[in-house]
Amino acid sequence: MEANLQPGSREERQRLAVRVIEPRETVEGAGVHLLRSIGGRDLDYLDPFLLLDNFVGGDPSAFEAGFPEHPHKGIETVTYMLDGEMRHRDDQGNEGVVGPGAVQWMTAGRGIIHDELPRPRDGRIDGLQLWVNLPARDKRVPPRYQTIPADEIPVHEDREGVVTRVVAGRAGEVRGLIAGTATTPMYLDVTVPPHTAYRQPVPAGQTAFAYTLSGTGCFAGSEEWREVDARRLVPFADGDVVDSRAAHEPFRFLLIAGTPLHEPVARYGPFVMNTRDEILETIRDLQNGTFGR
Ligand code: MN
Repeated sequence: MEANLQPGSREERQRLAVRVIEPRETVEGAGVHLLRSIGGRDLDYLDPFLLLDNFVGGDPSAFEAGFPEHPHKGIETVTYMLDGEMRHRDDQGNEGVVGPGAVQWMTAGRGIIHDELPRPRDGRIDGLQLWVNLPARDKRVPPRYQTIPADEIPVHEDREGVVTRVVAGRAGEVRGLIAGTATTPMYLDVTVPPHTAYRQPVPAGQTAFAYTLSGTGCFAGSEEWREVDARRLVPFADGDVVDSRAAHEPFRFLLIAGTPLHEPVARYGPFVMNTRDEILETIRDLQNGTFGR
């Protein structure tokens, strides 16, 4: 399996796995138990990514109460379902279901109020929500949804049998359908066959991380390859390519990247602005009934 792995050349610098973060169990919404890997104590912010939650399990009492009515402002929330579905409804008349394998890329912009209800399939739920920050110039844009059903997410398969669902960004010549987001995100769902190597270019300067889903495998590290179990977050240092290889079973992970904003972050729960004054203004708007207008 070494044979098809090209050593990093001067032109293509390997992005090295900086560390491996074990998500913390967190309770959110009306009692949803989830695994939080970004937005918690261990990793507050991975510019432009503010939060990564994974609600997973087979105990309905751990998730069925869902996330009752709550606001968002100044960010995008990305819901990607592996198993089960997420029902949602907002204050502007939008509602829908994000089914298994589908993604909803929601730009909250100037503000929405919605509820989200995870519903299992065969008793099981497995979904992820990523929060992507918006630059100052986009924090007051009108809300927008991009929902891609499971069977419309483009799929790339390479010669080694690596299968990539391209939610956003590009794998080989296959491009994702998510468009018009300031951070030019990459969001790939990658499955590497056993004992197989994988290489994916990620533009230099972007923030990149993997979130492992199943199997075990390795990522290139500074001194040696780092073996990583399922449900771990692996941030990468800067470079041009991410290199990975699967152990003895298929290794599935999300590979996510985006352009950092390098702007001040004023964060209060689901509101993410640039200054404290903007947060106070948002809270006043919510109290006055002018939120999102
Ligand atoms: Mn929400």
